[in-house]
Amino acid sequence: MKSEDKVLRIIAELRRLARDEGKRLFATSSLQTHSIPLVHIIARSELDIPIYCLNTGFLFPETLAFKDEVSEALGIEIRSISSSVPKHLQRDAKGNFYFTSNPDYCCRLNKVEPTAMLLEKYDVWVNGVRADQNLNRRNMKTFQPAGNGALRYHPVLDWSSKEIFDYIKAHKLPRHPLDAQGYASVGCEPCTRKSVLEDPRAARWFGMSKTECGLHTDLIEKESK
Ligand code: SF4
Repeated sequence: MKSEDKVLRIIAELRRLARDEGKRLFATSSLQTHSIPLVHIIARSELDIPIYCLNTGFLFPETLAFKDEVSEALGIEIRSISSSVPKHLQRDAKGNFYFTSNPDYCCRLNKVEPTAMLLEKYDVWVNGVRADQNLNRRNMKTFQPAGNGALRYHPVLDWSSKEIFDYIKAHKLPRHPLDAQGYASVGCEPCTRKSVLEDPRAARWFGMSKTECGLHTDLIEKESK
């Protein structure tokens, strides 16, 4: 299917969920270059779907600047949501931030729990996971359950990296400033390195067994059982 056909199908699906079924939708974006096509498609849908950035407090300043750039370029608001646990309570017994000793817990506090707060308010969580991003994600489905009775919608699950970057080029979308410095996958500053090997996500939590932030691990664990 050509990418524009896929886009129209996503917009139709978003409208069906929001208008025909009356669902309350929200989206999250990691605000990386490859995340922006979905943000753009949501803007094209002309639906009032709030888009959230999970501001962990550990994002690169370039990502926060990029958030403003994308908002302005696309004429949309991107909201921030953060952990309710203040940073001084996010340290281990040695006084170090949890990302040094227990990154799963750090991700839980700063990503999973804020998302869970959103899932209490909305019916459908739109997010941009893609099956080709890593082995964990290849068995995900377009629609899957989320917490609190909500539904996940993964509109670009079947998009290839080429389709994503063709879309960025065709619509002249902004690019994350760290791309030009060799970062192919940008997360929190303490847990991101410049790209290594052929897998862009290998640069995240480099040297650890961790490959996911925890937002989608419930699906991955279910699949592997
Ligand atoms: S990616 Fe790193 S800094 Fe960010 S929430 Fe997870 S462990 Fe913490």
